Amino acid sequence: MFGIVDADLLDNGTRHPNLVLMKLAGYFRDRNIPYKFIYNNDDISKYSFIYVSKVFTFTKVPSFLDKIDPSKIIKGGTGYYVEEDDLELFNQQREDDMARLELDPNLPDFNMASQMPDYTLYDEYVAGEIRHGKNPQNYKDYQFFSIGFLTRGCIRKCPFCVNKNIDYVYNYSNLLDFVDNSRPMIYLWDDNFLASKDWKPLLLELQATNKPFQFRQGLDIRLVNEEKAEMLAKSKYHGDFIFAFDQIKDKELIDKKLKIWKRYTKKTTKLYLFCGYEISDDHSLINDILHLFERIEVLMSFGCLGYVMRHEDYRNHPLNNIYVQIARWCNQPQFYKKMSFKEFIDRNQFWVKTDNKCMSLKTYEDFLSNFPEYAPQLNHYFNMKYDSTINPALWATD
Ligand code: SF4
Repeated sequence: MFGIVDADLLDNGTRHPNLVLMKLAGYFRDRNIPYKFIYNNDDISKYSFIYVSKVFTFTKVPSFLDKIDPSKIIKGGTGYYVEEDDLELFNQQREDDMARLELDPNLPDFNMASQMPDYTLYDEYVAGEIRHGKNPQNYKDYQFFSIGFLTRGCIRKCPFCVNKNIDYVYNYSNLLDFVDNSRPMIYLWDDNFLASKDWKPLLLELQATNKPFQFRQGLDIRLVNEEKAEMLAKSKYHGDFIFAFDQIKDKELIDKKLKIWKRYTKKTTKLYLFCGYEISDDHSLINDILHLFERIEVLMSFGCLGYVMRHEDYRNHPLNNIYVQIARWCNQPQFYKKMSFKEFIDRNQFWVKTDNKCMSLKTYEDFLSNFPEYAPQLNHYFNMKYDSTINPALWATD
């Protein structure tokens, strides 16, 4: 019997089922190989091998795995991502894994891209959580979506990304490989769909399913043109359109592309705002925070939402809590659209209903007092409001 462990689920909890584990389960199911999803205090000694996957590098692997022979554990996922320098060691470990599983590393690989996931893998877990009072809305991704990649790879080589060692996009699964007709919606994990030379036929295929779909990773707004904007906007798209605005150096280009995009849709458009990368000192911190707000100002001017995504490096500075407060404000549209960051901080203090300074206000004041020379810019950004920044003339058609 093989065991399957989703380390992200057991450490931080996650709303996303792990695709590779569902495909692995599908592979076992199709070959009548016994397997079980481990998510509680199971007797782990009964498994001949345990497959563990994690998406995030900071995820802690469950301690019950310490009790078994490490040679019985097969690890995978981007959370085990290795830098190029360690690739040799990684490949050696992979070969060792293949040998332990008595698989020939030189066999032509069964192509996991075309493996239908076992969408029932999390059923027991989800039913238990809902039975124990958890909100069923939190488990929609487990229950109502077919999940897959139509393409993989990216052209950008961003230094902070697991795709940095590749500079092209290739076709991966077909829709038939992962779409389960009983599931009403589709979501896709493609890294940079719009950079694919086949974006158009693939988008037509998606539209032909007649199921609402969504790209979860954020589409590359820099690659939007009139044709892409028109086709995407006319699609049966699930939820908000999500793009990425990761780096301030792209401001001019993104400004130009948002002008195109906004002419085609009135639907909510959200852009991921990557930040916190390589924070080491005051200089890197203040620059990053100013650039983050500069991007937020662009988004507000186009009537778009922002979503702050922090790299783990943000923790390196003692004033790192400023990122937490900005994310609490920016990532919740009811605050972002109704109040400035400063008003949000004041509201936090009001909510605590004591004379002691709350963490939000303390963080805010500490940050301002640490950077008095930047007070004019910071005061501008911290008092900026959505309603007075939005400028529909930017995307007016004539
Ligand atoms: S554009 Fe996105 S997917 Fe591509 S390398 Fe940069 S962060 Fe990664």
